[in-house]
Amino acid sequence: MSIAEEYYKAGQIASDVRRRICQAARPGMKVLDLCNTVEDEIRSRGAEPAFPCNVSIDEVAAHYTAEIDDSLTIKNGNVVKIDLGAHISGYLVDTAATVTFNPDYDGLVRATEEALNEAIKLARVDVRTGNLGEVISNTAARYGYRPITNLSGHSIESYRVHAGISIPNTWMGGTPSLKAGGVYAIEPFLTTEHGAGQVIDGPTREIYSLVGRKKTRDKSLDELLEHIWSSYRTLPFATRYLEGKMEKTELKQALTKLVTLKALRSYPSLIEANGRIVAQFEHTITLEEERTTVLTV
Ligand code: MN
Ligand code: MN
Repeated sequence: MSIAEEYYKAGQIASDVRRRICQAARPGMKVLDLCNTVEDEIRSRGAEPAFPCNVSIDEVAAHYTAEIDDSLTIKNGNVVKIDLGAHISGYLVDTAATVTFNPDYDGLVRATEEALNEAIKLARVDVRTGNLGEVISNTAARYGYRPITNLSGHSIESYRVHAGISIPNTWMGGTPSLKAGGVYAIEPFLTTEHGAGQVIDGPTREIYSLVGRKKTRDKSLDELLEHIWSSYRTLPFATRYLEGKMEKTELKQALTKLVTLKALRSYPSLIEANGRIVAQFEHTITLEEERTTVLTV
């Protein structure tokens, strides 16, 4: 059983862009410029961003993307997770890496990458997702680190980043097994020994996705929803993608209203509960009976 050719192409594009941005990232750079560069490079190679580029720094584990006019800058000493996705006609891949500008966390970053590699080595048809979690948490423990247990990898389907099956970052019983023809993102997040090993919601909400195309009885909200549907379908998008559609404050209010109406869902930034540093690596894989392919290698 093989998967759509578009997955392979999207995988090459995403890995190429990830490699380039990780080499280019430096203290002094704006997160907004990094996000724009990643998204532009995905487009220039013939794909579309599958979700807004996430640049999550230090104790922010995930789901931070630049806001409109964001002045946040990478600093010396930061541990920076860059998480990006590319899709072609809805066939999408998801990949991430961590760049550290603090040698104190080199070990954490190396252990996280190793945890991903160990999980990929184990991944084949009929292996339970809980066993991937087990190898991730064992690898973390071997180096004195902890997995973030309330973040997980996920199955991927056309136009669906999180398609229902979770790949935990710790052992869990009663989990489903990997299937031939399946596409899965594996993404260990590790923190230090004094971390809580959990994330909590942070203060910023810059990422949204469409839940349903309902009528709101407000013409400008209806138009915004139609624009979102025609541009992004159900894939996540950032507030800054809609820059110029409305004045900034008005746009933020409109998005908040649409969340209240359950036409959109929002994704808050996610922060390590004890405020400790987090590292992340992620690849998208696909499985055949006798073979595992890393699409974002
Ligand atoms: Mn990701
Ligand atoms: Mn993912």
